[in-house]
Amino acid sequence: MGNWLRKVMTGRYGVDELSRFLTVAALAMLVLSMLFNNGFSLLFWLLAIVSLVWSYFRLFSRNTYKRKAENNAYLTLRYAATRKITGVKQRLRQKKYYRFYKCPSCGVTTRVPKGKGKIRITCPKCGESFIRKS
Ligand SMILES: [Zn+2]
Repeated sequence: MGNWLRKVMTGRYGVDELSRFLTVAALAMLVLSMLFNNGFSLLFWLLAIVSLVWSYFRLFSRNTYKRKAENNAYLTLRYAATRKITGVKQRLRQKKYYRFYKCPSCGVTTRVPKGKGKIRITCPKCGESFIRKS
């Protein structure tokens, strides 16, 4: 890394997970814009430019406090998204052997074995019991 570059980057925010995501997203948008031949093409191209400009703006930003907050917001979102996806995946895998019911009183989802006929389900959270066919 050259001396001038170190000088330029002093006090700047630099790269974090959000910038990395933005760069990858920009590349993906560019590829998508090449795949489409209509209005979507322009839309994806614009999104790619916006993502790139945003990631560069963050890279050279001196407001590290605000950039850190943005990154944290992104990480929280990503965590929630991956948790939801793994939840759905798990449920799909278990669908063969279990049925899922929502508690009518508190909304919590409970898992019961499949093929047991009519059964009384007791909610593990609020204790409400309800009858369902499994
Ligand atoms: Zn409940």
